[in-house]
Amino acid sequence: MKIVVVGTGYVGLVTGTCLASLGNEVTCVDIDSNKIENLKNGIIPIYEPGLEDLVKRNYEIGRLKYSTSLAQALFGAEIVFIAVGTPPKENGEADLQYVEAVAHEIGKNLNDYIVVVNKSTVPIGTGDLVTRIIKNYYAGEFDVVSNPEFLREGSAINDFMQPDRIVIGCDNNMKAVEIMKNLYLPLNCPILITDLKSAEMIKYASNAFLAMSISFINSVAKICEQVGADVEKVSEGMKLDKRIGKNAFLSAGCGYGGSCFPKDVQALVNIGRQNNVPFTILEEVEKVNCQMKNLLFEKLLNIYNDLYQKRVAIWGIAFKPNTDDIRFAPALTIIENLLNHGVQINIYDPVAQENVRKMYPDLNYFNDPYQALHQVDCLLVITDWHDFKQVDKSKIKELMRGNLIIDGRNIYQPEEMFGLGFNYHSIGRKKI
Ligand code: NAD
Repeated sequence: MKIVVVGTGYVGLVTGTCLASLGNEVTCVDIDSNKIENLKNGIIPIYEPGLEDLVKRNYEIGRLKYSTSLAQALFGAEIVFIAVGTPPKENGEADLQYVEAVAHEIGKNLNDYIVVVNKSTVPIGTGDLVTRIIKNYYAGEFDVVSNPEFLREGSAINDFMQPDRIVIGCDNNMKAVEIMKNLYLPLNCPILITDLKSAEMIKYASNAFLAMSISFINSVAKICEQVGADVEKVSEGMKLDKRIGKNAFLSAGCGYGGSCFPKDVQALVNIGRQNNVPFTILEEVEKVNCQMKNLLFEKLLNIYNDLYQKRVAIWGIAFKPNTDDIRFAPALTIIENLLNHGVQINIYDPVAQENVRKMYPDLNYFNDPYQALHQVDCLLVITDWHDFKQVDKSKIKELMRGNLIIDGRNIYQPEEMFGLGFNYHSIGRKKI
């Protein structure tokens, strides 16, 4: 099939590349001419495991093309994906300006039947809005479909190629549904067909539920700390219940971040308010997450009282491992807190630190986790990169000036850390 993907971010580039690698002819379009130029020169704008090879291979054999011109790319295309950002506005509502701009552009340039697929996460009713915008320009036949994306950064290619499910929402036309089913046929996974609005809601409800699980277990963790229980064991015990499930999102830690959960929770809260159905549980989910993002700093302040002339190492800035994405990352909240108290900061992240450097050029960056520990009073572990899991702890001890480790992802074992003489703190686990 001839396909256009608009937006070459985390979702668009992965979608375009994976569809090309299935044998489709794909053009990825972006308004950012720098990104498009870089892609043509083999420079990939994001870090996503396995993506670079796949992008280059499909570009070299001509199945993947890049363009800044949606008008040209649309010529002869059967499907156009909208995969642009939907960031939160000040009030939490999803900002649809990029989706709307693409819809206008599609409308102006259509001259034959096409399936317009909304892959961006959008408020319920946006599919209808896109239809109305296109109809202002184009009187011919076309269909708008909602096909929310569930990939996770860090395992995006695998998630795209082996999804748990594909959701296709369409109101009026089985022709569009058949085209979409055909497109995804090689993935051999359950395909759920719904109306447009239900498909849009499935995405928000799924992300909100996952975020809620995290805030739930984090609230349990805070109680565990007070009563002397171990949240890791609690979570293990809960997951053995088949109604909860072994893959449940029940890892306690210093909060969720990224470009999806924070904004999608806020957007759904907003949708509830706009429809006079306040989503009060979700409002709490958001509040708990804000508290968790501040928790490591609060622990640090409790231990030291005065942070004057303290030096802290931060391991991990990305909101999760295997990505360079730092949007709404808990580490950013922690950095702000530390800077407000005059703390010196050493930073190490395997791939995200260049993105942080753009925001905070004056912090101390290191290319090795051990180097970042030189003469620090405290180590804060914020992202659970594999790189941090089997480190040489006696070397850590030697390099640090202090012995305080605050582990925001529970990657070390308290018994071992205390045995080695660290003043070790984590989330929701027994103090030994
Ligand atoms: P992103 O910010 O990484 O990329 C968006 C891209 O769209 C940018 O390259 C931008 O230049 C481009 N763009 C903006 N306006 C454009 C226009 N008019 N024409 C062409 N290109 C334009 O965003 P993302 O993280 O890929 O997210 C895209 C959507 O997918 C969002 O709605 C998001 O909620 C959703 N989503 C994201 C993820 C994720 O893990 N990142 C997962 C599932 C769903």
